[in-house]
Amino acid sequence: MQEILQLDQHIFHNLVAFTGTAEPKTAMPDSVAWGLKDLGKLIAQKRIEVLSDANVQLSVNTLQRTALENTKAARDTHIQNLKNNAEAKKPNPSIRHLNANDQTSCPKCGANMLKRTNRKSGEAFLGCSRFPKCNGTRQIS
Ligand SMILES: [Zn+2]
Repeated sequence: MQEILQLDQHIFHNLVAFTGTAEPKTAMPDSVAWGLKDLGKLIAQKRIEVLSDANVQLSVNTLQRTALENTKAARDTHIQNLKNNAEAKKPNPSIRHLNANDQTSCPKCGANMLKRTNRKSGEAFLGCSRFPKCNGTRQIS
């Protein structure tokens, strides 16, 4: 949006709106709206005017010109892109296998290892750089 509208970052608020029958399964941050009515409430909470009416209209026009068409084909492409991105983020099993004997990478996720010290025993070991997301460790050989 910032790039398309050529507007400063400070005037943007990141809000997420779920529509349809989706329901939250866990607690959600305040920036998440459930349904359009909820989204309206979140927007109404912002009291500081950052754009003139003329600039709002200009931005709406620009967004409508650049938005993807709301067609089944466009939605299917979008979903396929999301799937491809998710697939690309998965750790590659062949790389993991390759790194199985590599002392410098995490045995669980393949990330770099960092030298750490066990607080109780004082012994040095290698811990995953993604800790606490990953708790992979290696002994220092
Ligand atoms: Zn790891």
